[in-house]
Amino acid sequence: MGKLGSAQDIWKRALGELQIRVSKANYATWLSNSQGLSCQDNIFVISVPNIFVAEWLSKRLYPLVRKTLVDIMDTDVDIQFVVHNHELLPASPSSSQTDGGTSSKATQYRFNPRYTFDNFVVSDSNRLAYAAAVEVAENPGSSYNPLFIHSSTGQGKTHLLHAIGHLTTHNGLQAAYTTAEQFAREFILAVRENQVDKFRSKFGNIHVLLFDDVHFLVDKKQTLQCFFQTFKELYGNNHQLVITADSAPEDLSLTSNNLKSRLEGGLVVDIQPPDFETRLNILRTKAEPAMTPEIEEVLHIVAEKVRDNVRQLEGALVYLTAHAKLSGTNITPQTINKLLTNTNHKHDTSLLLHVVADYFNLSAEELISKKRDRKTALARHVAIYFMREENNCSLSEIGKELGSRNHATILHGYEKIASELNIHPNLSNQILEIKEKINFQKGCREAH
Ligand code: ADP
Ligand code: MG
Repeated sequence: MGKLGSAQDIWKRALGELQIRVSKANYATWLSNSQGLSCQDNIFVISVPNIFVAEWLSKRLYPLVRKTLVDIMDTDVDIQFVVHNHELLPASPSSSQTDGGTSSKATQYRFNPRYTFDNFVVSDSNRLAYAAAVEVAENPGSSYNPLFIHSSTGQGKTHLLHAIGHLTTHNGLQAAYTTAEQFAREFILAVRENQVDKFRSKFGNIHVLLFDDVHFLVDKKQTLQCFFQTFKELYGNNHQLVITADSAPEDLSLTSNNLKSRLEGGLVVDIQPPDFETRLNILRTKAEPAMTPEIEEVLHIVAEKVRDNVRQLEGALVYLTAHAKLSGTNITPQTINKLLTNTNHKHDTSLLLHVVADYFNLSAEELISKKRDRKTALARHVAIYFMREENNCSLSEIGKELGSRNHATILHGYEKIASELNIHPNLSNQILEIKEKINFQKGCREAH
């Protein structure tokens, strides 16, 4: 059975539990659009729609979500929230039959209904990519083949791929979307199950292959080879390929020069980060139903503050709206300033507190509480140590975060750990382990 299928099911059960435990508004805002992606090496990966949801969940619900999963799976797991457009996954992506035999012969691909050409704001920074995308969607295989779109993250590459998917299927042709990551995952599975041919054959009658984030394959020789074969076959049959990456073909360190020159052989276009006007226009389209004069002012500030990534721009808006809804307040220029500047710093601290608390089998609340038993006190001192060493927090900041403790208490905690570290190997091991966990969590966040 496919790993993806089972992670999905487990997460569905977990959602059922969580629905009972958190408020309705919180569930709707933060959990309802999540999906279980995979579970490997005891790391359960949950996909969420944007970075703000990921931050909020790891900040506020990490212990509860983890406990829920541990209970269901009856084994210790760590969790990781990743930003992933799971609406984009095809309905039955796996080469193995995980849908109880209901899969039809042609895989049905679903495209994100929000990612259409109509919803794409065109500006100088993306005009060429947009025009090329429309052209290949209308005349697949006959104009630019392959079409290669590159940009930094969050500039609309995936959006354009889906838009192409919508239009080609609308015109009665078969289009398939896959991320390079998903392709790699399925390829590995196919190798393991001795079904590589079957895996490749599913692309055989696809008129337009939308292949997202090819840079993911850079150091994966075998998968790249398989992709190249698929590429050549489709190309040979005049089928359209649209490929995206985070950089131009010449800057991807692809092992195969052949593939590189193939990728360069069609049309290569880039998308630049949007200018202020475009950012504002994008926000306006996204906020449309709620447009009021105050919102317009808010959008100006957001467009000013969030500069180079449309995904963050959109995430900021979702976050602000959710915050307003949950706290029952209006979004005002003052609240935005506070909310948008603080998220990272606050997140670092709370991530740290959660990791430390978790390591000692405590909750973050217990670290902040008045409890003074040995275990809690030690965990609190370790947290202080990390807040100072890792996050460069001042003693008074740390005091504030830890339930208004005074300067002297914090200093004492810090010095205790700093001095004992050199004497007790056990403690230094613990510190190292925790540090690894913190870095891991941070890495997960930054990777997206
Ligand atoms: P990428 O694939 O380049 O990382 P995405 O396509 O995922 O970026 O875009 C991130 C988000 O920003 C999506 O929600 C997308 O709809 C939105 N977006 C990006 N560019 C535009 C644009 N020009 N007009 C409207 N929305 C956009
Ligand atoms: Mg993308």
